[in-house]
Formats: sequence, C-alpha cells, structure tokens
Amino acid sequence: MQSTSSTVVILGTGGTIAGTAASAADNTGYTAAQIGIKALVDAVPALAGMPLEAEQLAQIDSKDMTHAVWLALAQRVAYHLARASVSGIVITHGTDTLEETAWFLQRVLAPAKPVVLTAAMRPATSAQADGPQNLIDAVCVAHQPGARGVVAVLAGAVHSAHDVHKAHPYRLDAFRSGDAGPLAWIEEGALRALRPWPDDVALGLGLAKLGADAAAWPVVEIVISHAGARGAVVDALCAAGAGGLVVAATGNGTVHESLLSALHRARDRGVQVMLATRCVEGPIVAGRRAPAGLGNHERWPPTTGLSPVKARIELMLTLMPTSMPPQP
Ligand code: ASP
Repeated sequence: MQSTSSTVVILGTGGTIAGTAASAADNTGYTAAQIGIKALVDAVPALAGMPLEAEQLAQIDSKDMTHAVWLALAQRVAYHLARASVSGIVITHGTDTLEETAWFLQRVLAPAKPVVLTAAMRPATSAQADGPQNLIDAVCVAHQPGARGVVAVLAGAVHSAHDVHKAHPYRLDAFRSGDAGPLAWIEEGALRALRPWPDDVALGLGLAKLGADAAAWPVVEIVISHAGARGAVVDALCAAGAGGLVVAATGNGTVHESLLSALHRARDRGVQVMLATRCVEGPIVAGRRAPAGLGNHERWPPTTGLSPVKARIELMLTLMPTSMPPQP
C-alpha cells in the first residue's frame, strides 16, 4: 500500500531535457524547451504506474531564466509541498542556470521535503539522451524518506543547492560540488551517502519575502575583477539603478585597483557590495586582516563559499524588505 505521502509532483520548466534536434545524432544543434512535461514523463517506461503528477510551469531555455519565473516556481513548489500527499517535488530545468534556481529555492523555502532539480546535457531526441535516467534518479530521490531541502540530481550524483555548479559545457557528467563533493551517489534506485545531508530547514526566508511582483526586486549585478578592469563599469551599473553589487574577485577576495575607488564611491552612495571569489572551488578564507586589495579599513562581507551567481541571489534577498508589499 502507498504511504499517505507518496506522490511526487514534477514541474517542467524547459531546458535541454525537453529539447529537440532534427537528427538523433545531433547533441548540440537543438532547440531547448520543446516537449511538454507530460510527454517527457510518459516517454520513460520506468516511471509508468508511479504516483506522479506532471505540471508545466514554464517552457524556456534556462539561459533566459527570469525573476518572474522564479517567483511563480517558488509559489508553486510551496503549494505542492504543503499537500500531505506529496513526498517531494522534481523540477526539470535547463543546466545553464540550474544552480541559481536551486540556491534561490533553498534560501526562500528551505523545504523539509526534497525538492530535486534535474536536467540533461543532451536533447530528448538524442540517440543517447541522458534525460530519462536523470528523471528516474530525481524521482527516486524525491521519494526518499529523510531527504529534504533543494538538491540537484544529475549523472548519478546528488549535489546540494549550496555547492552545485555546472563545470563543463558539454560532457554528460557536467556538474560538480567543489571542495564539498556530492552528497550521495544514486545507483539503481539506491542512495549511497557520501556526507551528511544538509539540515538548514530553519534558514528559509519564506515566500512573503518575495512579494507578488518580481519586477520590484532589488537590482543586484555582478562585476568581475580581471586584468584591465575599469571602474567605469561600476559607475555605469550604479547609474542604471543597481542597489547591490557582487564583485567576482580574484583569488582569495582580491580586487583590481582600478575597481576599488569606483566601489568605494558606490558604497558611499548606499550601494551594498559583497565579495565572492571567481575561483571555481573553495571559499574566501578570512584572515586577521581584510583581504589584500580592499584597503586596510574596508571590509566587504565575503560570502560563505557561494559562487558569484549565488552571491547575487543572496544579496538580492538581503536587500528585499522583510516582507515585500503584496500586489494591489
Ligand atoms: N541552454 C540550455 C538550458 O539551460 C542548456 C541545458 O538545458 O542544458 O536550458
């Protein structure tokens, strides 16, 4: 007999997993987000007869992800999680911004049930599509007793929302968790745990924080510190309305001297600045002094190991009022 909470809701948002190409041999020249979620699920025999519900939330290439889709997704995920009959949610997504959506949902909802993002590196029409197995694995994790929080399931690995990032533009095994490593492998429907499952259910900021209009969310941009960097970029972003800037800093949080005075100017005008390293693995390690390059008296808060794209979400959420106004 099914337990009372055995249904997995699959929310489709598009991506390569729903993509089609003219030829089964073509793994790159395809169009993302073409096949509806019900058809995708129906095409996987291993999922037949399972207690699943499929719902199309969006149909986009995730390179084009918007805050409006994030808002709708967070609301829909929260709605389904509140149903006693639902054990977990699977979200099919594009690989390109999957890590951002994962962190956004984790910080807003910090769900006590599993919310599993999955994707594919090859389109559904590929002779060797990876989407079906990823979907099977994701549903399996969404059914796991004890699983919770937002995770990503790809190529047989379970990654935490905090650590997951796309590390390769083409290979099937494209996702990594950096220093932390994956949470678990998933092998023929069984989880082999590698480290303790994160337990930050208390950290969810709550849906009310988002308000009802994503267009009202604070503007936060990313500035990358690189050879030949120009402070004019910072000035231009501030003039265009940025309320926060994440600096994708070099190494252990260092910033090109050409950006520093512009960043100081920005801060003096009330723009919040946050540091993240552009290194793909590892956090900025705080020393006894502010990281070199910031000036002796300056301390911009470094993120706790968040990549620049996730730090942008963090700063945007920080800059939101405690509760955004509801729509009139
Ligand atoms: N551009 C695609 C997307 O992110 C790539 C993918 O799905 O893998 O939707």
